[in-house]
Amino acid sequence: MLPMRFIHGLFKSELKDFCTSAQWPAFRCDQLWNWLYVRRVARWDAMTNLPRAMREVLAGEFRIDAATTDESASLLAADGTRRLLARLTDGDSVEEVLIPARGRNTVCVSTQVGCRFNCVFCASGQAGFRRHLAAGEIVGEVLLASAAFGARPSHVVFMGIGEPLDNYDEVIRAVRILNDGDGLAIGARRLTLSTCGVVPGIRRLAGEGLQIELSVSLHAPNDAVRSRLMPVNRRWPVAELLAACADYTRATKRIVTFEYTLIRGCNDTPEHARELADLLRRFPCRANLIPLSPVEEFDGRAPDERTARGFQETLTRAGVNTTLRTSRGAGAKAACGQLRFRRDEATPPTEPHP
Ligand code: SAH
Repeated sequence: MLPMRFIHGLFKSELKDFCTSAQWPAFRCDQLWNWLYVRRVARWDAMTNLPRAMREVLAGEFRIDAATTDESASLLAADGTRRLLARLTDGDSVEEVLIPARGRNTVCVSTQVGCRFNCVFCASGQAGFRRHLAAGEIVGEVLLASAAFGARPSHVVFMGIGEPLDNYDEVIRAVRILNDGDGLAIGARRLTLSTCGVVPGIRRLAGEGLQIELSVSLHAPNDAVRSRLMPVNRRWPVAELLAACADYTRATKRIVTFEYTLIRGCNDTPEHARELADLLRRFPCRANLIPLSPVEEFDGRAPDERTARGFQETLTRAGVNTTLRTSRGAGAKAACGQLRFRRDEATPPTEPHP
């Protein structure tokens, strides 16, 4: 038997095809889509204007519960950031982060259970890689966030556990579903994908015709330092990565943001700042400096504030638009690089993901 599909992993056009083949009138698809993404109910029997027979067929064909949570597993940091545990149907869980701010509600979603890239300063890959998330599970994370916020999020960032471009098809499918104008309708420019530097993925993304924002985790101004921190650099070194980013901007007219985690004594010296400025002044881009968040498995520290400000100033003086961000969520172990996946051994796998 084929595994059940997640309803939240379907495009509206695919759902329309399903409704047509079931010989339901076209307006039924609009009603269903509205229940899923505008009213955002989590149960078939809540869809009261659909005939019972139709709901039964849907329930036999699709899962509506790709991601679930209970509030007791949610952790609130002093700054208002909240970490949610998204339970998946096979007993795995991933973390997501809700970041409320005045006028905007951002959710940071995971794209894989674990990660294969093993950046030395990041907790997300420390327990290895288990599997990709399906699009319906990623959309499910956003729906959990909507329920927790009490409103649809204004922004979604693909910056949780996992490497989005390593799970390319499902992530882009999720992007298009979140972006659907009749559904959650999250504008492309309010969707940000972050990559550790998977060059073929960046090149492919440039051809999608999507207006989403791209962030690249750079973290070092040269191959020697970067390869030590991020093994991915041995495959796609700095020059290749930056060339792909410059091409991305030429193709999409979207400016890339380079994330740079400042690690004391490792990549934060004035010399590193000058080297970085020299790389980034050559094409339109932004830099976002983030002091390292503490992670058990990595014994690095963030620089003091003066060093961080000096680093920022060097870049700014070179004409690189640079922000220095204090990472939020540390009190709930929800800051950059602190997210982990779980496996609930008490829950046997129910359905393999499609
Ligand atoms: N795999 C993608 C998506 C994860 S985004 C990527 O690497 O971009 C998570 C961001 O947090 C990345 O920029 C990552 O490098 C950064 N990060 C990881 N560990 C961190 C830590 N301990 N402190 C600060 N930032 C960290």
